[in-house]
Amino acid sequence: MGLGELMRHAGCNSIETQVLNSRWRDDRVWRKRVCRKCGARIFTYEITAEEYKLFMQAKELQSQLDEPAWAVIGSLGVHATDLTHAEAADQMEKLRGTNDSGLSVVTAAVAERLKKQEVA
Ligand SMILES: [Zn+2]
Repeated sequence: MGLGELMRHAGCNSIETQVLNSRWRDDRVWRKRVCRKCGARIFTYEITAEEYKLFMQAKELQSQLDEPAWAVIGSLGVHATDLTHAEAADQMEKLRGTNDSGLSVVTAAVAERLKKQEVA
């Protein structure tokens, strides 16, 4: 087995796969592989190291958006905090049309600082 055939099958964790077919598809190299341990078919696309780096950065950004580290603020103060970014966006949608203008999604840390200023 050549090094070019190494590819981890997430299903059984084996890195021994065999390439059954390689094609030029969607502007990149596509391969159909079979896991030698469990026989599962795996489909892969080759990406450059630069594309991989961008993908990992996007993944990291997505995980930050999924953390309950966001808040909704407006001219009337802090509406809700410790939300995921999607929850904050939902919250903002619910508040739209109320008498609070200038609604925005900020980090929970920023909301915390605003709360302290309100008290002071
Ligand atoms: Zn497998």
